[in-house]
Amino acid sequence: MPFYNRIYGVIFLLFVFFGCSVSKSEHDVVPLPPNRAKNVILLIGDGMGLAQITAAMYNNGNHLSLEKFPVVGFHKSYSANDLITDSAAGATAFSCGVKTYNNAIGLSKDSLACKTILEEAEERGLATGLVATSTIVHATPAAFIAHQKLRVLYENIASDMLNVDVDLLIGGGKKYFDRRENDQRDLYQELKDKGYRVYDYSTRPLEEIIPDKKRNLVYFTADNLPLPVSAGRTYLPIASNLATNFLAKRSENGFFLMIEGSQIDWAGHANEGELLVSEMLDFDKAINKVLDFARKRDDTLVIVTADHETGGMSINQGSVMGELKYGFTSNAHTGTLIPVFAYGPGAALFSGIYENTAIHDKIRKAFGFNTPILPKANSN
Ligand code: MG
Ligand code: ZN
Repeated sequence: MPFYNRIYGVIFLLFVFFGCSVSKSEHDVVPLPPNRAKNVILLIGDGMGLAQITAAMYNNGNHLSLEKFPVVGFHKSYSANDLITDSAAGATAFSCGVKTYNNAIGLSKDSLACKTILEEAEERGLATGLVATSTIVHATPAAFIAHQKLRVLYENIASDMLNVDVDLLIGGGKKYFDRRENDQRDLYQELKDKGYRVYDYSTRPLEEIIPDKKRNLVYFTADNLPLPVSAGRTYLPIASNLATNFLAKRSENGFFLMIEGSQIDWAGHANEGELLVSEMLDFDKAINKVLDFARKRDDTLVIVTADHETGGMSINQGSVMGELKYGFTSNAHTGTLIPVFAYGPGAALFSGIYENTAIHDKIRKAFGFNTPILPKANSN
């Protein structure tokens, strides 16, 4: 008798547990579409570790767009010469699939140019784009399109950008194109001469740009560094929406797009929790725009991750939901494992724990760049 009582008790508890968890779930997990990815969108929250994600969630009614992703994994962020990576080596791991030294942009650890996923996508006839809330020549976007020994060689990085037929660039740093110190080139004009439509913050707001699907597009959001969101920057979700819809029309073969929430890292360096949360929530809006695009179709893989954590952030005792007490152990980057979120065809590849370089390899696999036909992705 006690045995049966126990069994009934367990069944009852299971029913209560699963019954509750289903009925309480506000954010349904979206099932994975089975086919290979025609489009891949990689969103990088620079400096976004688990505490940053948690802080944003608990300051946003206990909700983030990241909860909509069915697959979660972790990557190991260390670089070739330092357990603590910088953003240049971190982004090069994603773009080229190689560990390199800190400060290197699109180079192997032997300082040889490596082919980036953006360059390979271009070669294979896909459309490509980069969107950032830093300058467009800053380390994270730069590592997808440029090859330089030092990340601070901004004018060289800008020149490299003209060597690739990239379809879309949105970010700050106009001055590295049109008022250069090391040469007399006017890359703003050169882009126009190449057939690009080129706009900037001083000519018209991004909201008013109607992209021409027959022409590449560059939009400079600032002369140098764009504002933080707390000072009025609003363009990241708008740019993300524009980028997905524009690139989808640019090529029948699909597209590769990288979108960076650049300033999460800067708030981490400054140890400013509130600033950090505002940047995180802006980035989350961009994620939501991208998911809106991807959920209407079955051919788009969306990946969200960070290059590294910044600040050694913690959420400390005395915190309550919506009112958190932060701690920071550092003004610099740290070495913790970094979460990876994936949605769409090929998403199952991203579960587990792997090197940061594997993100590049998994994207290639999802695109079917390794083999002519990609085997069906496992649903998860
Ligand atoms: Mg960055
Ligand atoms: Zn940083």
